[in-house]
Amino acid sequence: MNSFDLTGKAALVTGGNGGIGLAMARALAQAGAALAIAGRDAGKNAAAAAELKAVPIACDLKDADACRAMVDEAAGRLGRLDILVNNAGTNIRKAPQDYSVAEWRAVLDTNLTSAFVASQAAYPHMLRAGGGKIVNIGSMMSLFGASFAAPYGASKGGVVQLTRSLAAAWAKDNIQVNAVLPGWIDTALTRRAREEVAGLHERVLARTPAARWGTPEDLGGIAVFLASAASDFVTGTAIPVDGGYSSLG
Ligand code: NDP
Repeated sequence: MNSFDLTGKAALVTGGNGGIGLAMARALAQAGAALAIAGRDAGKNAAAAAELKAVPIACDLKDADACRAMVDEAAGRLGRLDILVNNAGTNIRKAPQDYSVAEWRAVLDTNLTSAFVASQAAYPHMLRAGGGKIVNIGSMMSLFGASFAAPYGASKGGVVQLTRSLAAAWAKDNIQVNAVLPGWIDTALTRRAREEVAGLHERVLARTPAARWGTPEDLGGIAVFLASAASDFVTGTAIPVDGGYSSLG
């Protein structure tokens, strides 16, 4: 038996229309899972859905009702829900003293509250399926501060603690909940960061033992592992996929 095989499983990947989410969705599809992907941009959703033969769901995850509806639609259209990847995320970069409360909330709602609400909504579907896998996407900023990303860091630290709490609560239901902490990965999000934060590109290269930025495809393997029976005794963890970035003092 191949414990990484996802044949017969159904997965929902938020932010699955681009960047890390799309690469993880691709890896899950290659492992045999049926997919739903969610994001705000209908064009990006349609392109990803065509490639992956996935169910596209247009929604803004800042809206808790839309978030719950997304989960129910995925489970309804796929016939079940075994795997939820809470990947959608955003950042607003500025000095802490310059954020409005609305900006703070936009980042927290997108990155943290949506993961909580989607997990809550997925719970009954996973109970019905006899268990499930939730994969939350943290960041190096789950571990380290960044002068230009206070709400993002708060949200990503929260993602790890949310992961531990859900894992503790739902282990009895055969639901494993883990976080992945990507290092610096070349996507639209970090292309913008490199434009906005002087010297970021070089600082990341200098600190990363692997001596390169990551690619979205670097996250495919961990997604399959944490979504599959191969990780049935792994829960409540936060696993860096960072080329060694977080191993340096
Ligand atoms: P991208 O900007 O490439 O992708 C972000 C994804 O999230 C898109 O699919 C986007 O779709 C979706 N999204 C954003 N806001 C919303 C919203 N309000 N409602 C629904 N969907 C939304 O970023 P990455 O691939 O780089 O990031 C993916 C995750 O990985 C994020 O959680 C990010 O914080 C995390 N991460 C990334 C790192 C990196 O180096 N790139 C490092 C550490 C963590 P749409 O625009 O259609 O809404």
